Amino acid sequence: MEPQVPPFREAVRLAVEDATTRQHLYERLHRLAEHQRARWQEEETATLRAQATAMRQHVLAHLGELWTLAEVQATALGVEVVWAETAIQAVTQVQDALPKGANVAVIRGVIAEEVGLLSALAAEELTLLVADAGGYVTYLVGERPAHPVVPLAHLGERDVAELWRLYTGHQIPMTKEGCVQAIHAHLRAALSQPGVLLVSAHGIVAETGTPFLFDWEGNIATALQAATQVIVLLGLEQIVPTVDDVLLLAQIWARAALGEPDIPQILYLHPHATSQWRFIVVDNGRTEILAGEWRDVLRCVHCGACATVCPVVQEIGNHVYGLPYAGPVAAAWGPLRSPHTHRNLAWASTLCGACADVCPVGVPLPLLIARARAHVARRALWGRWARWLNRENISSGAKERHRGEGP
Ligand code: SF4
Repeated sequence: MEPQVPPFREAVRLAVEDATTRQHLYERLHRLAEHQRARWQEEETATLRAQATAMRQHVLAHLGELWTLAEVQATALGVEVVWAETAIQAVTQVQDALPKGANVAVIRGVIAEEVGLLSALAAEELTLLVADAGGYVTYLVGERPAHPVVPLAHLGERDVAELWRLYTGHQIPMTKEGCVQAIHAHLRAALSQPGVLLVSAHGIVAETGTPFLFDWEGNIATALQAATQVIVLLGLEQIVPTVDDVLLLAQIWARAALGEPDIPQILYLHPHATSQWRFIVVDNGRTEILAGEWRDVLRCVHCGACATVCPVVQEIGNHVYGLPYAGPVAAAWGPLRSPHTHRNLAWASTLCGACADVCPVGVPLPLLIARARAHVARRALWGRWARWLNRENISSGAKERHRGEGP
């Protein structure tokens, strides 16, 4: 089911009034920000950031060549590579590949959320299981993750245990460790059943044609072992040239997202003979963004660091943005993708620059958010002008007709 979020102003009002949720968010995000800050003070982090930024700039400048290579390599491994120009095409290509009644383990990620995949699949005759513990709980209750790496940042342990009892009928301990262990045990048992693995990957390596994922819970490996069919979704920008670039990305991503020196496990999805494999590469407006003044937003590797330190997100959370991206990214990207529906998001930022200070790949978020404001204002002005012109035309037409009717 697709999460239902009220219009932005109403969502903000509700979020501000919810003192308990605000407290949970504030504590979790501040704790995460402290870990992150400690890493950011290390000399090594500065070097890694510079290298990762250069790598992402290189990727955006050579997307065409990189994808040509990745497609050749993946096809040689027996993978079917298909391209989706729109969100609807992406969903259709997933639906076409899924057998009726299949068990589908889903690795939730930004691109799957962006195209509305889970809500589309919920209407089908399938058994869906979200593979990460936090993502699974948010899916059960019909919400998006509250943060890219802390999906349950808005809930306390008691809330999680109570929701689990409500949706599954099982009691679990009301401590953090108890909740985590019980949910993981449930997921691992379910994920070891054969079925389809539907993955929103962190990216694909062009030189080998293999997608990769950062796994810090260990569930993805379990699901991969049991998979009889694997479908991988990738955004057009989610590609890196070499395996060395994955190692670089893993280190900087871990520091930015989790405040850790490295990712516990990088999983490469090597196609093998016992499964059917399909990669779906999603454009959904990215080619247009790439050619314009918002191009740098596509450097984003969705680590969530900007949301962790954003003073607006720390107060009202990510849910109010109504988009699957981290708060400051949603403020820059939302009004660009949908200037009418998401126009208010451009003002959900203090432009303090905290987001840009922590971004591991140098996305100039305050500049992009300021451009989003200008974009929304320009469109509003054009809209008013067009309505005024229209009114003028109608009234002068009426005068003409009136004159023509004679006395
Ligand atoms: S803009 Fe930067 S900090 Fe924010 S999610 Fe993307 S990569 Fe991470």
